[in-house]
Amino acid sequence: MTASAPPTTSGPEQDLCTSCGMCCDGTLFTFVEVAEDELSAVQQIFTLHAGAKGPVFHQPCTYNREHTCMVYNDRPQTCRAYRCKTLLALDAGEIALPEAARRVAETLGAKQAVEGHLECGETLNAARERRAIAATDQERSKTQLAFILKLTALDLMLDRYFRKRGKTMLS
Ligand code: SF4
Ligand code: SF4
Repeated sequence: MTASAPPTTSGPEQDLCTSCGMCCDGTLFTFVEVAEDELSAVQQIFTLHAGAKGPVFHQPCTYNREHTCMVYNDRPQTCRAYRCKTLLALDAGEIALPEAARRVAETLGAKQAVEGHLECGETLNAARERRAIAATDQERSKTQLAFILKLTALDLMLDRYFRKRGKTMLS
């Protein structure tokens, strides 16, 4: 997760996000960048790791519980700033809340379909690596094919509704 816009604080946007949580639970991101000027505060509550551009903490975030941030008032700047494509469209008045909620519900359904194919403790990111290997396996089973198709359907939905231009699976 990288910063891109002002914070989400209240109202329909917050209702949407608390029904979703996909920018916190490892569906969209594998890590969250931490700004240098908040390092000392953030490392009080997160285990930080070296990232390509600086310190990060890993996703799924341990403070995401049932789509809700348990450290909301102390969440890092990147979290405060982040808005997915659907939230930006809602902010801009390009779509109404029912359409935003439909996108979230539909994508959560696609995610749930993938979860039945995950190995014990496997993250979606690890599953994406497994998909890349299975995709080249000429002797893959029907179960593996179903896993590939469902995960790809989820990623296409994430591209369409959540990931920004230049950040999509196909870009
Ligand atoms: S992915 Fe978008 S709608 Fe979902 S919680 Fe994050 S900002 Fe909110
Ligand atoms: S700190 Fe809160 S907003 Fe940030 S990734 Fe974790 S659960 Fe999400």
